[in-house]
Amino acid sequence: RERKAAKSKEGASYDISLKNTEKGVVTRFPPEPSGYLHIGHAKAALLNDYFAHEKYNGTLLVRFDDTNPSNEKQEYQDAIIEDLALMGIKPDKVTFSSDYFDEMYQYCVQIIKDGNAYADDTDKETMAHQRMEGIASKNRDASVEENLARLEEMKKGTEEGLRWCIRAKISVDNPNKAMRDPVIYRCNPSPHHRTGTKWKIYPTYDFCCPIVDAIEGVTHALRTIEYRDRNPQYQWMLDTLKLRHVQVWDFARMNFIRTVLSKRKLTKLVDQGIVWGWDAPNMPTIRGIRRRGMTVPALREFILKQGPSKNIVNFEWGLLWATNKKHIDPIAPRHTAILNKDVVKATVRGAPAPYTEDKPKHGKNPSVGMKKVAYSGSIVLEQEDAKSFKQDEEITLMNWGNAIVREIKKSGDTVTELVLDLHLEGDVKKTEKKVTWLATEGQELVPVELLYFDHILTKDALQEEDDMMDFISKNLETKEDAVADCNVAELKEGDIIQFERKGYYRLDKPASAGKPALFINIPSGKGGR
Ligand code: ATP
Ligand code: MG
Ligand code: MG
Repeated sequence: RERKAAKSKEGASYDISLKNTEKGVVTRFPPEPSGYLHIGHAKAALLNDYFAHEKYNGTLLVRFDDTNPSNEKQEYQDAIIEDLALMGIKPDKVTFSSDYFDEMYQYCVQIIKDGNAYADDTDKETMAHQRMEGIASKNRDASVEENLARLEEMKKGTEEGLRWCIRAKISVDNPNKAMRDPVIYRCNPSPHHRTGTKWKIYPTYDFCCPIVDAIEGVTHALRTIEYRDRNPQYQWMLDTLKLRHVQVWDFARMNFIRTVLSKRKLTKLVDQGIVWGWDAPNMPTIRGIRRRGMTVPALREFILKQGPSKNIVNFEWGLLWATNKKHIDPIAPRHTAILNKDVVKATVRGAPAPYTEDKPKHGKNPSVGMKKVAYSGSIVLEQEDAKSFKQDEEITLMNWGNAIVREIKKSGDTVTELVLDLHLEGDVKKTEKKVTWLATEGQELVPVELLYFDHILTKDALQEEDDMMDFISKNLETKEDAVADCNVAELKEGDIIQFERKGYYRLDKPASAGKPALFINIPSGKGGR
């Protein structure tokens, strides 16, 4: 019920709509099970879900577009279902393009019999060249019988069959190159993860998509804008096969700077060990960004706000993270961490014996709950803060009160020890420096690691000719050791908190058996990471 309420609230603020919705709305998200879902897929999935489930009282199909057995795996299929669930997307029905292999084969036979397709054994380069130049294939006028015989060879997966493909007979020289006799069936003897060795021929996306959309009753087919040239071809297939009309709705592809979204390239990052895996916090996968602290409401908001825009932009990650910050800031509990490097011990004169007090975890949101704050005469502070102090300066120990710096012991430039006089009657509004600190008595400090990620790539947008491996950053992650307040021991994996004056973090692994807890920094939008 909570999800429903939140959804309709945001739904009101987006102005995206479809045309011709009187007879109902059926949308579909058609991932190929050849990798994990990334943020670009999230856009497609969320838009389809939005139209089907929020804007209109419709139906959402998730269709595995499993027509290329060389790339596809059960592992990916399972992960896609899980990732959709993570995003709060519940398909009304899960289907497979492979459910329709029989029908599609029948359509292929029919389109050949109607004289609207032919078998071709022109090699790849020549075919590409002929398509560019508007030259007809030597097989274009083969007889129906010849074409059917070649389809049979392909179907058997024979050596002869492997040489052939089937092409729609649309045009040789249409100005729109997508109309120049596209390939509709290919021979591929690899076993399919669902249909095994039953089929040796597979429809291409151009053939499969309009047929299955029509059979499944899709009313609005959402496609990314770079398919626009293929829209007339899509309509040609529907008309030629006398199938039900489907409306195409184009939307802009979503890209991010210094980020690859092609599954082939993402697979390479994983295989080459450049990232920890598909779910590494620096991967642009749904799992990756979630692990880095992205929340689902923020992702939905960011994506739906772009709405029907057809501009393909290379987004700064900072924009998405700034949206996320808006969602986590009001609810993230506040904690304290002090870096171990050159940590400064301080004696606080005038402090009472060690004791703890219950304080709110969030200054502005009491519903976040309470935590224990420990106070004692010995505390630790960070080097950077200590270094800035001047003799007799009045400073504020956050969530405690003011203190006056009486002694600064140094070794070279590094502060080694401080002596402070507690001065609680001082005005915290009048101090220039408000510093974080932790009592070293009266609580058990929690060792933590703070992990920061940078972009994987050193170039904003890779060009066609660039080899991704030449642009891998040398400095992918930075780690800092620190100690945190005692309350941090109770946090669970996935919890999102703020370490005051540092930023937001997501607990990746709680502390265990002498190992520090691992926190991953959540970008807040400023650094644009
Ligand atoms: P990849 O380049 O990663 O292989 P794809 O488009 O081939 O991507 P599919 O699994 O076929 O991957 O995509 C499923 C759906 O997601 C398609 O409808 C596709 O248009 C959409 N999609 C893929 N990438 C993006 C993106 N960057 N922005 C928006 N939508 C995308
Ligand atoms: Mg695809
Ligand atoms: Mg692609």
